[in-house]
Amino acid sequence: MNTTVTSLNPILIAGPCAAESKEQVLSIAEQLQDLPVTYFRSGIWKPRSRPGTFEGIGSVALAWLNEVKEMYGLEPCVEVANTYHVEDVLEYGIQTVWIGARTTVNPFLVHEIAEALRGSHVQIMIKNPVNPDLELWIGAIERMTQAGLTVIAAIHRGFSQYGTHRYRNDPAWEIPLELKRRMPNLTLLCDPSHISGNRSLLLEVSQNAADLGYNGLMVETHHQPDAALSDRPQQITPRAFSELIANIIWRNATVSDPIMKHSLEQLRALTDSMDHRLLQLIAERMKLAEKIGKVKKEQDIQIYQPERWNEILENVKQWSNELNLSSDLMSKLFEFIQQESIRKQSMVMYGKILDETTKQ
Ligand code: PEP
Ligand code: MN
Repeated sequence: MNTTVTSLNPILIAGPCAAESKEQVLSIAEQLQDLPVTYFRSGIWKPRSRPGTFEGIGSVALAWLNEVKEMYGLEPCVEVANTYHVEDVLEYGIQTVWIGARTTVNPFLVHEIAEALRGSHVQIMIKNPVNPDLELWIGAIERMTQAGLTVIAAIHRGFSQYGTHRYRNDPAWEIPLELKRRMPNLTLLCDPSHISGNRSLLLEVSQNAADLGYNGLMVETHHQPDAALSDRPQQITPRAFSELIANIIWRNATVSDPIMKHSLEQLRALTDSMDHRLLQLIAERMKLAEKIGKVKKEQDIQIYQPERWNEILENVKQWSNELNLSSDLMSKLFEFIQQESIRKQSMVMYGKILDETTKQ
């Protein structure tokens, strides 16, 4: 299993949520030293939701991180959230930092950090903002690169949500995947610790990330997780980290076998033609929506009829179940179809579609 991990070279970042004492930091590093760890992470200044909890040990830990590098050969990285943090990091010669989710949301802070780092050779990783806003995430990356800095990775740690859910933070996988589509050369890492908030879910989130083509993981690792001063339920021991990475299957991005490659291409061509047919069907359905719109206009009735929409959703759920499709996802798909149908009907109401069709 280990050979699967190392042969594809995922970037693996491990280390505690927060540095708590020199002994703690060095003990974790010692236990990680023989594992394929690319960076040793440690929070020093902790952005806690509520005051009165452990807010980090502060810059004294930067010296410990340099010892981690000297004694165990692990490259340290820390979170910086303001220009004072940057000053300390530069003073101690730390080469890699990350911007946390609560900082990425704030363009003023991101700009100030970028300016404070300008001219340095510090490498940066940028976590997604706490809110599901891709433009903010991209904006933070751009602010760093425009200051001449090197962004080595984006880190997906999920998005805040209210109430109790399976995961601490909503992964909303479509957002990082869209980031990857728009910035294909950017290294994308997953932080399953902050997504899941629970060590028992780390493997499922990590495997999902590996299956989606992520380039690596950041995992909170502590020598005594249950005694950690922050994020206790999600931290794992270095030994559990070693088991975790041994169990993740990192698949190849492309097929090398020519026969399999050919059959994959054929299947993709079929998928493309089916997608085309799906869109043609939707277009036909929209023609019906326009006809319905005309009747509604003539009868002067509202475009949106809640009972009818409920009826459609009930059908979708029943048919999805019969067809072994996720009724939740198919309901979402139909929300979009319904939106397009309402858009077409309101265009009919206001005469635009009628004008366009008469021209054809
Ligand atoms: C962290 O990595 O410890 C941290 C505070 O994460 P986030 O910014 O993702 O909340
Ligand atoms: Mn944490």
